[in-house]
Amino acid sequence: MQKLAPDFDFLFNNLNKIAYIFKDPTHFGSVNQKMADFCSCKVSELEGKSVSVILDQKEIETVKRFNQNIFNEGLRKKAEMEIEINKKLHTIEVDTIPHHNNQGKVDYLLCLAEDITAELEKEKRFYRNKKRYRSIFKKAPLAFVVSDRETNIIDWNDKAEDIFGWKKEEVINKNFNLIVAEDSYSEITEVIENVFEGKKSYNINKNIAKDGSELYCEWNTALIRDKNDKILEIISIAQDISEKIETKRRIENQKEELKYSELRTQFFANISHELKTPLNLIFSSLQLLDYKLKNTNFEQINHFDKYLASIRNNGFRLLRLVNNLIDITKIDVNTFQLHRANFDVIELIRSVVTSTRDYLEAKNRNFRFESSLDSEVIACDPFNIERVILNLISNAVKFTAEGDEILLRIEKEKEWIKISLRDTGIGIKKENQDIIFEQFRQVDQSFNKKREGSGIGLSLVKSIVEMHGGKIELDSIYGVYSRFSVYLPAETIDERTLAAESYSADSLLNKVELEFSDINYI
Ligand code: ADP
Repeated sequence: MQKLAPDFDFLFNNLNKIAYIFKDPTHFGSVNQKMADFCSCKVSELEGKSVSVILDQKEIETVKRFNQNIFNEGLRKKAEMEIEINKKLHTIEVDTIPHHNNQGKVDYLLCLAEDITAELEKEKRFYRNKKRYRSIFKKAPLAFVVSDRETNIIDWNDKAEDIFGWKKEEVINKNFNLIVAEDSYSEITEVIENVFEGKKSYNINKNIAKDGSELYCEWNTALIRDKNDKILEIISIAQDISEKIETKRRIENQKEELKYSELRTQFFANISHELKTPLNLIFSSLQLLDYKLKNTNFEQINHFDKYLASIRNNGFRLLRLVNNLIDITKIDVNTFQLHRANFDVIELIRSVVTSTRDYLEAKNRNFRFESSLDSEVIACDPFNIERVILNLISNAVKFTAEGDEILLRIEKEKEWIKISLRDTGIGIKKENQDIIFEQFRQVDQSFNKKREGSGIGLSLVKSIVEMHGGKIELDSIYGVYSRFSVYLPAETIDERTLAAESYSADSLLNKVELEFSDINYI
């Protein structure tokens, strides 16, 4: 056994490493306690003994060759070797240092070894994990976009290439905004700020692909921090939901279409009723007339007046309905034309009032007309403005009872001529105040309605007013009053048109009869 100097001995035994000496290539000299612990035996069982006490034949050969080499060459060498101790494979890292005697010959080898089995295992595990996550990252069915804290992209996976069309090499170091639609920049900044503050990490965004196409993605974002809580990376995971959104939109459109088609069906059911009622009345009046003509002498002929009046009124009802239908269809396909010219709108309305007065009195409505203007010339289509006013008055009669008040007022309000019609009738519920201006809409959609009508009058009124550059407003308290206010621009146009010259106030009486035919009940 190699004799050690006392200081060396102390050091040797207190080293935090496995230490042993080879006095020749296959025999131990001194061994320290750590070496004995590593081999699960006593120091005395190793010191001065052959390596065969711990190694098998194959391992002995390797160690022998290795040591022999150092004895011959006299050079320090490091090596990693695997040895089996107590049926467990260990990897040790051995630093073999040759000791040279006075003659310069190597007389023993000092070996310092470390058991690196656990460390290697950790490293392998880490490597395996890294590999595993790398393959998940690469092949995941979701797009992974990794960016630094300045939102510059530092990595992305195959699915991201697939969704956004950019190759990984093309996006590295580019800002995340590369894949964000321009109108969503501020939204993204807000999302990132929220994520930094640890708030919401989920959002849906409009993104943009390399070919410029837009897509909608569902994003989940997470921060990767180091152990000092400093943000290292932002990981954003995206799923392309454009198809889902498109399907949702299609379903919504279909629902809307279905609703509209139900409304149309309802409308045609109403219209059929509206067409049939006057026709039935016309035919029954004709039948009665026919019968009476055969059985009456000429003195009684004035009894026939009521049959003739019914035929006339119901003829007008049909005509009004057909006219309105034609016009609403024309408006729908943009072929409805106004014939505007400069007219005194006050005079126009005053003559409408005069011609309706008898009707209103007959219906026992308390009708008043007020105007703060004597005359005001504006550009309008007199025929259609009459229709608007007549329609509003006939509605006011339709939805009021005997004794109710109807007030028609004209005044100037800034650049508008405001014509308002207020009645103390049944009023209109808040939830119905917008829809009554839509085509085919009536508040009471039931088949056995108390009041006649097709639900196109107000939609036509609104279109006519808007085509004049005006607007119509409604305010109402259900059960108390309704007020329709028509605003027409107080402006004139340069030339009188031909259509304007062909206008004749004479036909107004027929038009009144036409507009009021719904409420005559004859
Ligand atoms: P209709 O031909 O059915 O009268 P309109 O388009 O003229 O069609 O009116 C639509 C609906 O608006 C009416 O069915 C009624 O419910 C409501 N309405 C219109 N004017 C009044 C009013 N002055 N008072 C109460 N309800 C009204």
